[in-house]
Amino acid sequence: MISPARSWREFPQRYRLEAAKCAGCGKVLYPPRVKCPACAGTAFETIVLPREGKVVTFTVVRVPPAGFTEQSPLPIALVELADGVRVMVQIGDVADPAELEIGMPVRLEFRRISWDGEAGLIFYGHKAVIAR
Ligand SMILES: [Zn+2]
Repeated sequence: MISPARSWREFPQRYRLEAAKCAGCGKVLYPPRVKCPACAGTAFETIVLPREGKVVTFTVVRVPPAGFTEQSPLPIALVELADGVRVMVQIGDVADPAELEIGMPVRLEFRRISWDGEAGLIFYGHKAVIAR
């Protein structure tokens, strides 16, 4: 469980879409972590990710967990950004998940959310919206 105070401290980092690039093996971690899962390295360079990308694959959660029920159905996508980095994000502003297609262009925008796969509970983050 992550406290609201910690979420607040992480706010600027998340707003700028910063990621950590491992000095040892070059793997890009988003969200940043203290230890590289690929080589166990602990030295990182901060990089800013591009906002443009495309949907690699997606899933639609039709029975979201508690706290997310107002967002049902909840589309979640693996997005490949312009520099090749892949991030798992919610897709926002989709009235009907049938609109979604693999390969469609999206842009990451900073939105209020209530889900994060790896960092635990946070209240704001990036969502992918369809780039029209
Ligand atoms: Zn590494």
